[in-house]
Amino acid sequence: MSIDIQKIRNDFPILNQTIHGKPLVYLDNAATTQTPQQVIDAISDVYTKYNSNIHRGVHHLSNVCTEAHEQSRIKVQQFINAKHSHEVIFTRGTTEAINLLSFSFGETFLKAGDEVIVSNLEHHSNIVPWQLLETRLGIKLRVIPITDEGELEMDEFKKLLSDKTKLVAVAHVSNALGTINPIKEIIDLCHAQNTPVMIDGAQAIQHIKVDVQELDCDFYVFSGHKLYGPTGIGALYGKEEWLNKMHPYQGGGEMIQTVSFEGTTFNELPFKFEAGTPDYNGAVGLGVAIDYVNEIGLETIANYEHELLEYATEKLLTIPGLKIYGTAKNKCSVVSFLVNDIHPYDMGMMLDKMGIAVRTGHHCAQPLMQRYNIPGTVRASFAIYNTREEVDQLVEGVTRIAQIFA
Ligand code: PMP
Repeated sequence: MSIDIQKIRNDFPILNQTIHGKPLVYLDNAATTQTPQQVIDAISDVYTKYNSNIHRGVHHLSNVCTEAHEQSRIKVQQFINAKHSHEVIFTRGTTEAINLLSFSFGETFLKAGDEVIVSNLEHHSNIVPWQLLETRLGIKLRVIPITDEGELEMDEFKKLLSDKTKLVAVAHVSNALGTINPIKEIIDLCHAQNTPVMIDGAQAIQHIKVDVQELDCDFYVFSGHKLYGPTGIGALYGKEEWLNKMHPYQGGGEMIQTVSFEGTTFNELPFKFEAGTPDYNGAVGLGVAIDYVNEIGLETIANYEHELLEYATEKLLTIPGLKIYGTAKNKCSVVSFLVNDIHPYDMGMMLDKMGIAVRTGHHCAQPLMQRYNIPGTVRASFAIYNTREEVDQLVEGVTRIAQIFA
């Protein structure tokens, strides 16, 4: 199916500007995607038409706002095909979702000596919360090694899995390499021994159709701002049977049923995990972002981005001295590279002067950079509004910078 990328670009007002006198080429989508006018308008509508604290009100605005918030939960539920909308907990994003899980799952199910398995290519957000549990509860973090290509060493994973393993937490897609991990295989292996699995979907939700029932994952987390939605909102999906058993994360308004100094009882799902005034504004924006993605179609998005990735990979590899990090067979939307010994920051700053926004550094994956013994990479990451012309500009820019350094 052919798509009109110019029409899509027109939905994103931020793209239409010059940076240092050059048209903006935005290739930092793995850090955050830009927001379409439809989402901006939806957020503006909350503040101009029906802003009011949700759930507790009896007045009209509060009811409208509550309805909008809860409709967004249903949109998330349908987007990931969760069985129940109350299995969708709104969080500030992926990081908070993993912290919620590590705290609540840890408090409820983990004790000294238990093991949690992550992989060598995780984002810090899926490492540090578990390390905090090592300190607090005395659990042990085990790490799946990766190959030079950036794929998980599945045989090593099988060796790590044992009756001590109480949770496996891995990325669906690596933010630094673009590797798509074999999560279905991981989930099946874990379930064969009754070990639950959390998937960090921060880099997958915007590129790959996720069906949590088909995957049968126990938890799936993602952020709205990487899915053309606003910042400050994301979700933790969890199977009802786990969430019902887990201790609350934060205490406060809405997560309670009754409070007295003799004892407090907790609300039902999903509210048990949503203490305090939720970011209903962000939730509404996220719902509209999901509508936006659905309208184009995730499969269309994925196919288009895959073409861009292949084109970029092929073109970049023509630059002498350029090495791509992350050459897994299954990749999406990210190309990470270095050219000779040019420091990624130098490359990033010089590209910026050409109007090209890429991310440079360790990409919050320092253990992964240590694995490759590099300080970081230059990362270009694609979204539905990027074009082949932009890839050409990137390649031209990198070529020029390489020549200057030579
Ligand atoms: N995990 C992965 C794989 C990511 O790419 C990111 C964002 N870079 C995160 C977790 C953290 O997401 P957030 O900052 O939105 O909480």
